[in-house]
Amino acid sequence: CHSLEKTFTIYSQSLKDKLIAKSDLESDLRHALSTGKQLSMVYQPILNTKTGALVACEALVRWQHPVRGYVSPNEFIAIAEQSALINLLSRWIIAKVAEDCHRLVENNIRIRMSINLSRKQFSDAHLVKRLSQEKMTLFPADQEINLEITESALFQNTQYAISLMHKLKTAGFDLSLDDFGTGYSSLASIQQFPLDNVKIDRAFICNCVENPRDGLFLQTMSDLAHHLNLTITAEGVESSEQWQLVSDKGIDYIQGYLISMPLPIEKFIEFDPAP
Ligand code: C2E
Ligand code: CA
Ligand code: CA
Ligand code: CA
Repeated sequence: CHSLEKTFTIYSQSLKDKLIAKSDLESDLRHALSTGKQLSMVYQPILNTKTGALVACEALVRWQHPVRGYVSPNEFIAIAEQSALINLLSRWIIAKVAEDCHRLVENNIRIRMSINLSRKQFSDAHLVKRLSQEKMTLFPADQEINLEITESALFQNTQYAISLMHKLKTAGFDLSLDDFGTGYSSLASIQQFPLDNVKIDRAFICNCVENPRDGLFLQTMSDLAHHLNLTITAEGVESSEQWQLVSDKGIDYIQGYLISMPLPIEKFIEFDPAP
């Protein structure tokens, strides 16, 4: 379940190397954004747990660096957030996702599109205005859009987060709490936010078949979500045993490598949930 490899790379670098790498990556990302050529979007299917029907997908950004090769979005989004690049990047992402939504509609695929908001994006004062405008001008009419927000963004400033979320709901967006269980929100504290869905972090899925405590956590979360009138999604489902268990717990939606890797739009259009 754990990415030891990643931890090792980070700790084996000296601080100096890291700083150089950071400034390089920042200017390289600026360049990538100006040409748009190294960046792309991929889409991971989200299925109804019980029926297996395709109901949504999550948009994930990719960067193929000319020298370093694949750079993880965890890495470059953090770098973009430390500079003003996050605004450019998020505008690029929205425009690309909107374009791909039109391709889905052209292919008669009408599903909810889930888009990630980073912590910095979420605290941007112009967020609601900009997103509403983009929703109206760039996306197909009636496109359902879900915004995924992490716990850390919500608990920075609870009152601010709640009011912002109400505005986003009024503007027609659905809201998901991403990576639930990894941060500091207690089960009860999520009820104050106007959410539609919670996404259980894959850390709770990867051992859930072997570890009764994870199974119990999933049951508790599922019951709580439904009690609060929220839907619940399990991410990182990698085996059919996990799908079965998650289904037994009443979890509404599933996402993970078992179903599909995130796919470029051409491949996503061909994706068949029940091959
Ligand atoms: P996330 O939002 O939690 O996204 C889910 C991550 O889990 C993705 O990693 C996805 O490829 C991966 N994943 C999906 N199914 C499985 C599985 O079965 N097993 C395993 N081991 N992993 C699975 P990815 O694409 O590397 O993204 C990492 C993080 O970077 C995302 O975590 C999100 O926080 C951020 N990110 C990615 N794309 C975007 C974006 O367009 N905008 C923003 N703001 N953040 C993004
Ligand atoms: Ca997400
Ligand atoms: Ca997640
Ligand atoms: Ca995550």
